[in-house]
Amino acid sequence: MKYASIIISISHSDIDRIFHYKIPENLKDKISLGTRVIVPFGKGNKSIEGYVVGFSEVADVDEKYIKPILNVCEDYSLISERRIELAMWMREKYYTTLSSCIQCIIPKVVKDKKFALVTLEDEVDENEVAKILKKDTKIKRILEFILECKVIPSSHLKFLFGESSYGINTLVKKGICKVVYEKIYRGSIDKNENFTKEKPTLNEEQKKACDFIFSQMESEKKKPILINGVTGSGKTEVYIRVIEKVIEKGQAAIVLVPEISLTAQTVDRFVSRFGSKVSFTHSKLSDGERFDQWLRARNGDISVMIGARSAIFTPFENLGVIIIDEEHESTYKSDQLSPKYDAREVAEKLASLYGCSVILGSATPSINSYFKAQKGEYELCVLKNRVNNLFPSIEIIDMRQELANRNFSIFSRKLKNEIEENIKNGEQTILFLNKRGYSSFVSCRECGYVMVCDNCDVSYTYHKGINSLSCHYCGKQVAVPNICPKCKSKYIKYFGTGTEKVEQEVIKAFPEARVLRMDVDTTQRKGSHQKIYEEFKVGNADILIGTQMIAKGLDFENVTLVGVLAADISLHFGDYRASEVTYQLISQVCGRAGRGKKQGRALVQTYSPDEYSLKYAQKNDYEGFYEEEILFRQNMVYPPFTNIFVIVLSSSSEWFVKDVSQKLMMILRHYNKDNIFGLLGPCACAISKINNKYRWQIIIKCEDEVKLRKYSLYCVEKLKGKIDLKDISFQLSLNPNFI
Ligand code: ADP
Ligand code: ZN
Ligand code: ZN
Repeated sequence: MKYASIIISISHSDIDRIFHYKIPENLKDKISLGTRVIVPFGKGNKSIEGYVVGFSEVADVDEKYIKPILNVCEDYSLISERRIELAMWMREKYYTTLSSCIQCIIPKVVKDKKFALVTLEDEVDENEVAKILKKDTKIKRILEFILECKVIPSSHLKFLFGESSYGINTLVKKGICKVVYEKIYRGSIDKNENFTKEKPTLNEEQKKACDFIFSQMESEKKKPILINGVTGSGKTEVYIRVIEKVIEKGQAAIVLVPEISLTAQTVDRFVSRFGSKVSFTHSKLSDGERFDQWLRARNGDISVMIGARSAIFTPFENLGVIIIDEEHESTYKSDQLSPKYDAREVAEKLASLYGCSVILGSATPSINSYFKAQKGEYELCVLKNRVNNLFPSIEIIDMRQELANRNFSIFSRKLKNEIEENIKNGEQTILFLNKRGYSSFVSCRECGYVMVCDNCDVSYTYHKGINSLSCHYCGKQVAVPNICPKCKSKYIKYFGTGTEKVEQEVIKAFPEARVLRMDVDTTQRKGSHQKIYEEFKVGNADILIGTQMIAKGLDFENVTLVGVLAADISLHFGDYRASEVTYQLISQVCGRAGRGKKQGRALVQTYSPDEYSLKYAQKNDYEGFYEEEILFRQNMVYPPFTNIFVIVLSSSSEWFVKDVSQKLMMILRHYNKDNIFGLLGPCACAISKINNKYRWQIIIKCEDEVKLRKYSLYCVEKLKGKIDLKDISFQLSLNPNFI
């Protein structure tokens, strides 16, 4: 071939196309599809990186204008043909540039790296080891991990056990472990064969699920499989069996989990079964480590990768299965960075490119996925029973009744009794509140004035710890006023209930209890999340108070009581997914109770006990909930019956953003002659100002996703031709997590 088709590594819509370059004789053998190259670009012939995405006999401009490739960066290809196709698909699907998609698919290339690895000392005092292994402490669990893996990167340990290297240092001081810095890191975890765990015998449901999945894996036309299995029904064990099968066939597996459930427990289960074949990625890896892992996956040195959203891009060319656990989680869709991809959609695309299977698992599937299963686009697999057969009993408590009985406390009488009972029995309790801070807002009792952040137009949150008001959007902090800024009244007070307030109430009501709190504020310092987790796990507290953070993944044997203090908050999001989110949250939180041998119970306090999401969550009746929710979606024409494209415009001028939004609406109307598209707005966003930028939005609905995207983007382009783009920005999202 004469020319190489090259994508320049700059993400800008103006140069989001292929450029042709000559292949010099001396580089002919080094250049293949996916090679990273250096090319001269633009008028000044600046050296710039690019990727070879194809070859061509003819060029798009006259021969004499075509420049030669200057050099290659690596003598191997970084991106395979199928992944170039994936990037092309992502560009269309997520309306971004090819360059940003390629950068998403391959990590930053880092070559000169060193790895801090923790391993056992050559000579170890067995007595010292035995002493540590006797007591259930964090050090013990770290040591067990090292014993099992033999050698493990310290970044993995820090991710799993907390940022501070306290545990590692202690083991080093005691002469049990050492930290070595290696240039060549064998990458994954090298397993100690002595620690191989026995496989449990599958129960009937699990066996049926496995057989079904295996038969699907053999079929030519594979559909994604949705496993709807309650928490503790043994889904993870099923995943493990599927991966075994895949490895037997010489193929590889990707397992996606929400980062928060990537705990030592989870990782350990996979490591003890797959040893050095498995590796995992997380936010604590350095760029060098990330690149190394990526390379090892590409070279086939590992065959299982576990990680959060971005692990979907692990470059296995012999991909056999993609498993997405807790598939309903909103974290699988990236809402901030471009490309705003959804890992579930990327998984389906990969399945079509590689012919691999996709397995989605959840106790509370997203309405979207369950709808697909009902329509036959997905296969459905149900696990109804918990492996240890104990389900928490869930009771809904009507807080209006409590008020009527003159109980003004945040605890119903029943919850108070149960907590006391638990403390007496030495069992642990989790109290859940869907919020953070001391109270949601500060307002004047006389004139009703609410303290609002002047950058963002959201009410300030009062934080008792720092005795100030802070904005959760821009981080601005101001002092608490003594008098109302508007009417000068001194009756300015905080309202609502936050975790800090709950903590105080708990201490007041149960003075003998040891209390821990886990929310955005107590976990801001690095590693504090793990620290609180560890404290609770080893039994250093009776009660853990927390927000969403404690709803997921946490698995504590001794927790037998879960109290949801106010189940109403998430119901009033003003989002069409409010009931879905509530159902998922309540089921998940309640699922934290009774993970061990003892029966668990959950008490859900609410002011709207008739809300159907709560009723079905109480009965653990997902299907019932789905039936009712899908009717609502259908009647209101919400997803999955339509797609929603949201355009948010923002500008420092309130007048300008409003004016431009109206212009855009006119253009949208103009091109909507057949009324194929539903148009809503323009109106100010629910949060009308963030960081001094005024925000307006337009919502466009249409069942046909491709048409919807084309039409919306076309209209935005039309608008851009007509206005000054300096002080306006556009944020486009298809079916965003939150509107
Ligand atoms: P899920 O992923 O659905 O929450 P898990 O796979 O984590 O469920 O299983 C819950 C618990 O039951 C785990 O401690 C697991 O080791 C155990 N378990 C799973 N399957 C079996 C089985 N067939 N026999 C015995 N124990 C099992
Ligand atoms: Zn603010
Ligand atoms: Zn006032």
